[in-house]
Amino acid sequence: MSETTSFQPGPLDRQAPFYIAGHRGLAGSAVWRHLEYSGFTNLVGRRSADLDLRDRDAVFQFFSEIRPQYTVLAAAKVGGILANSTYPVDFISENLRIQTNVLDAALATGVERLLFLGSSCIYPKFAPQPITEDSLLTGALEPTNDAYAIAKIAGIMQVQAVRRQYGLPWISAMPTNLYGPGDNFSPQGSHVLPALIRRYENAVVTGAERVVNWGSGSPRREFLHVDDMAAACLHLLETYNGHEQVNVGTGTDITIRELANVVADAVGYQGVTEWDTSKPDGTPQKLLDVSKLESEGWKAKISLAEGIASTVHWYRDNFESVRA
Ligand code: GDP
Repeated sequence: MSETTSFQPGPLDRQAPFYIAGHRGLAGSAVWRHLEYSGFTNLVGRRSADLDLRDRDAVFQFFSEIRPQYTVLAAAKVGGILANSTYPVDFISENLRIQTNVLDAALATGVERLLFLGSSCIYPKFAPQPITEDSLLTGALEPTNDAYAIAKIAGIMQVQAVRRQYGLPWISAMPTNLYGPGDNFSPQGSHVLPALIRRYENAVVTGAERVVNWGSGSPRREFLHVDDMAAACLHLLETYNGHEQVNVGTGTDITIRELANVVADAVGYQGVTEWDTSKPDGTPQKLLDVSKLESEGWKAKISLAEGIASTVHWYRDNFESVRA
């Protein structure tokens, strides 16, 4: 079967039931905001307390009640380098269960368009930079997040298998490191950007003269604001119908040391920064090649300086209630 090849993507029906799995998380909440802004009137989300996506029966029941026409799968157990390397069982097992349940239930109820969100860590540790989509499965993974990466690779594969076996025009997008409002700011569990915002802001508030970041500061990373990612997701759902996953990034990276300087400036920190090299650096560089996405007609709009400034603002406004 290959109906997928004849399917022509176009504007989605703004009234159709549209399920966002993970709508309270960093990525899912941005997708929700963007869909609302784009005129969708029948968005559906469930908090994890109301629907545990690891519970297969509950997920099947939910899909048969709601019968979503569209789905974005943004639900995942995510975390920074320390969380991933300390709790690999949680990252592989929970993510496999969540995505298999959602994808199976979406197939059983015939969801028409589905977008699976992965991560740039699916690519080999030493993939040529910038990383093109066809680097997938060409080399060994970065060990600090290999369990999470394997779960995400399985998700891409399942979406491709559904396309091949059932002809449904489902797609996958692989965003680079995301940041923005609603992020996890927990010192042990978070990714680097929210960790730096919290650490430098805290140093300013307490008058500390010294801040210690993890690793050497030399790894290079690319950062995409979640609002840009959300816009890219809708764009792909309305324009793209390919078998291969699509990278979603800015096409520009910086060193962690440079990033720390941008954050320090954004919060007004003037003290010293030190680096704790007993903490892992992770992969030396992670920069996505975004030419495929650009050839689909989409480009990131929010600059890093602008995105960090607005995220600092959000963090200050939501200090009491941030996930920490
Ligand atoms: P990664 O992209 O999967 O490696 O995930 P992270 O965002 O957790 O880490 C990116 C880089 O930032 C790594 O080289 C970390 O060592 C470095 N880093 C520096 N300070 C911190 C911090 O406070 N938290 C985290 N998570 N990473 C940090």
